[in-house]
Amino acid sequence: MEMGNPFRCPVCNTLLEEDKDAGFKIPSLCPYLNTLYPELCALHDKLYFGKWRKMEAVPNEIKRAYAKLGQLLSKVEEVVRKENIRQAMQDVRNADGALAMANPDEDPYTSVKHMDQALSYIHHAINDLLQEKQAKLHSPADYEMHYDVVLPFKEDL
Ligand SMILES: [Zn+2]
Repeated sequence: MEMGNPFRCPVCNTLLEEDKDAGFKIPSLCPYLNTLYPELCALHDKLYFGKWRKMEAVPNEIKRAYAKLGQLLSKVEEVVRKENIRQAMQDVRNADGALAMANPDEDPYTSVKHMDQALSYIHHAINDLLQEKQAKLHSPADYEMHYDVVLPFKEDL
């Protein structure tokens, strides 16, 4: 074992350490074991349940989430291109457009709205992929128990 080369979940590729931003606790069995796109769903949920969407978010949390959104979007785009699903391509483009409106360095709190939209389009794109394979659609609520969810989210206010 190499130092500085942490273990990753063999299913969803999550680093096997606590994710403070997401409030993610490491379960003994990967909760994404039975999903078709475990890495995409896990990354989506870490953002979905992330602190950046909450009222008490600080600018650095929003900036980190912005970077993670970009990484997730490029992973989703890679799969969508390979699968060549028209609706998913459109959702990727919409996510890209929403993310381009965000500028967390200049204005983190206005950016959250656009980042939320981007995350929502990414969710649609993942569901387009799942639907194409006639698999169960992804619902973050099914995984909520694995995250420290502190309600309310901004959109609930
Ligand atoms: Zn996992």
